[in-house]
Amino acid sequence: MANVMEIYQLLPKTNCKECGKSTCMAFAVDLLARKVTADDCPPLVKEDKYKANYEKLSEMFSSVANVSETGLIVHAEKCTGCGNCVVACPVDVAADPHGAGSGKAPTTDKVIFKVVDGVVTANNVQECRRFGENKILCVACIDTCPTKAIEFV
Ligand code: SF4
Ligand code: SF4
Ligand code: SF4
Repeated sequence: MANVMEIYQLLPKTNCKECGKSTCMAFAVDLLARKVTADDCPPLVKEDKYKANYEKLSEMFSSVANVSETGLIVHAEKCTGCGNCVVACPVDVAADPHGAGSGKAPTTDKVIFKVVDGVVTANNVQECRRFGENKILCVACIDTCPTKAIEFV
């Protein structure tokens, strides 16, 4: 996960206060603590010149958005990007046996775990085996994560 300086570098750095914070650095600290989202910085959302940074920040914190769907949380700040969960997840292996499932870059968007910029993101969480009608208590990703970054709530 990025540190506060890396997050700050992606903000407009104008200290315009439109977000209600006194500085962009204060906003970066709150963003890291998940108290705000990239959408809470109006210039970042509205101005074309910040579009790429907005997308990067949104992606960085995208795992949090998946919590409500299946209960899967990736604590991005604990993730080292090792990729163990990508290979361990049976859904990833089934969807992409020669790519993500064998430790290589994903060749399909159907995988659940994907390492982006050194941190894992959770996608297609509705495919998780703990979800839906025939759910089973799969713990493959939790067990394989060396930093306990994955949790189900
Ligand atoms: S709205 Fe954005 S640019 Fe303005 S102070 Fe807040 S974080 Fe910085
Ligand atoms: S619980 Fe199992 S199926 Fe669900 S994301 Fe983790 S490894 Fe994949
Ligand atoms: S196993 Fe844990 S540390 Fe490794 S990529 Fe997955 S969530 Fe991150």
